[in-house]
Amino acid sequence: MNRPLVAILSGAGISTDSGIPDYRGPNGLWRRDPEAEKLVTYEYYMGDPEIRCQAWQMRRRNRTLKAEPNAAHRAVAELERAGVPVRVITQNVDGLHQLAGLPTRKVLELHGTARKFVCTKCQARGPMEDAIARVEAGEDDPPCLECGGILKSATVMFGERLDPVVLGEALAITKACTVFIAVGTSLQVQPAAGLAGVAADNGARLVIVNAEPTPYDERADEVIRQPIGTSLPELLQQLSAESAY
Ligand code: ZN
Repeated sequence: MNRPLVAILSGAGISTDSGIPDYRGPNGLWRRDPEAEKLVTYEYYMGDPEIRCQAWQMRRRNRTLKAEPNAAHRAVAELERAGVPVRVITQNVDGLHQLAGLPTRKVLELHGTARKFVCTKCQARGPMEDAIARVEAGEDDPPCLECGGILKSATVMFGERLDPVVLGEALAITKACTVFIAVGTSLQVQPAAGLAGVAADNGARLVIVNAEPTPYDERADEVIRQPIGTSLPELLQQLSAESAY
């Protein structure tokens, strides 16, 4: 692995300017609505066809697939294009870093992606649009076309483990980076939150860009409270200029 210079941990806050609310966070929509939380909880989803029908209707209405990257996503992609080695570790499932132009291999999606479906039996994957199209054509709970298994969004549901390979890569990047920027995350959900501590333990410069205080502010070299859409582009331009020398 090349030694990455900049690791960026992004959470829901980087996507709010794109019109995507915080679903999963400690104060996110799902946590505040137990009925909605069932739709994204593995045990309920697998055990109840009615829950799956509701979940497909929720995915059909979800605006995530129609969202566009904002200035912050574009700034991260520009940093990479400027030749600065950058890796993104994201808690988001919206795929907006990649849509902004960041190569897919440079983005680690801790919670998977809402842009794909996956079969819970044979692991077949495909574009979420294809599954939504089947729902719109009248299939309430479209089964896997390969094996007949139950399909779900390729996101990590409550009650599911994070992918250990993705997690291992995230940890390796965190240990190797020289600058670690946590942006738009409350740093309250493990294991993502702990990465900020690991970065600091390993000597990285820790920068936190978040509207609200986080448990890691004390350890940060810099805490930025300004709106992400303007402050992150400024910060990354500065980094880009520094690394040009
Ligand atoms: Zn299957």
